Amino acid sequence: MYALSCNCGHTTKGTDRYLVEGEMWAHAFKDHKDMLLGMKAPDIAQWLREKDKTLGVAAQ
Ligand SMILES: [Zn+2]
Repeated sequence: MYALSCNCGHTTKGTDRYLVEGEMWAHAFKDHKDMLLGMKAPDIAQWLREKDKTLGVAAQ
Protein backbone atom coordinates (compact mmCIF):
# COMPACT_ATOMS: atom_id res chain seq x y z
CA MET A 1 0.00 0.00 0.00
CA TYR A 2 1.35 3.38 -1.05
CA ALA A 3 0.34 6.65 0.58
CA LEU A 4 1.21 10.30 0.13
CA SER A 5 0.16 13.17 2.37
CA CYS A 6 -0.26 16.80 1.41
CA ASN A 7 0.71 19.63 3.77
CA CYS A 8 -2.99 20.48 4.09
CA GLY A 9 -3.76 17.01 5.46
CA HIS A 10 -5.15 15.49 2.26
CA THR A 11 -3.97 11.89 1.81
CA THR A 12 -4.01 9.61 -1.21
CA LYS A 13 -3.38 5.89 -0.98
CA GLY A 14 -3.59 2.76 -3.07
CA THR A 15 -1.64 -0.15 -4.52
CA ASP A 16 -0.55 1.63 -7.73
CA ARG A 17 2.22 4.09 -6.81
CA TYR A 18 1.73 6.06 -10.02
CA LEU A 19 -1.99 6.41 -9.41
CA VAL A 20 -1.31 7.50 -5.83
CA GLU A 21 1.11 10.13 -7.12
CA GLY A 22 -1.30 11.11 -9.92
CA GLU A 23 -4.07 11.66 -7.41
CA MET A 24 -1.76 13.86 -5.33
CA TRP A 25 -0.87 15.97 -8.40
CA ALA A 26 -4.56 16.22 -9.32
CA HIS A 27 -5.30 17.39 -5.77
CA ALA A 28 -2.49 19.95 -5.93
CA PHE A 29 -3.62 21.31 -9.30
CA LYS A 30 -7.14 21.69 -7.97
CA ASP A 31 -6.51 23.04 -4.45
CA HIS A 32 -2.98 24.47 -4.53
CA LYS A 33 -2.68 25.95 -8.01
CA ASP A 34 -1.03 29.15 -6.76
CA MET A 35 1.55 27.18 -4.80
CA LEU A 36 2.39 25.05 -7.86
CA LEU A 37 2.78 28.13 -10.03
CA GLY A 38 5.23 29.55 -7.51
CA MET A 39 7.41 26.43 -7.39
CA LYS A 40 10.85 26.62 -8.97
CA ALA A 41 12.81 23.65 -10.27
CA PRO A 42 14.71 23.12 -6.97
CA ASP A 43 11.38 23.10 -5.08
CA ILE A 44 9.98 20.48 -7.45
CA ALA A 45 13.18 18.42 -7.22
CA GLN A 46 12.95 18.51 -3.44
CA TRP A 47 9.33 17.34 -3.57
CA LEU A 48 10.22 14.52 -5.97
CA ARG A 49 13.06 13.36 -3.69
CA GLU A 50 10.79 13.29 -0.65
CA LYS A 51 8.06 11.56 -2.66
CA ASP A 52 10.44 8.84 -3.92
CA LYS A 53 11.69 8.31 -0.37
CA THR A 54 8.14 7.98 0.96
CA LEU A 55 7.00 5.62 -1.79
CA GLY A 56 10.26 3.66 -1.71
CA VAL A 57 9.91 3.02 1.99
CA ALA A 58 6.30 1.91 1.48
CA ALA A 59 7.40 -0.66 -1.12
CA GLN A 60 9.69 -2.55 1.29
ZN1 LIG B 1 -3.45 19.76 -0.15
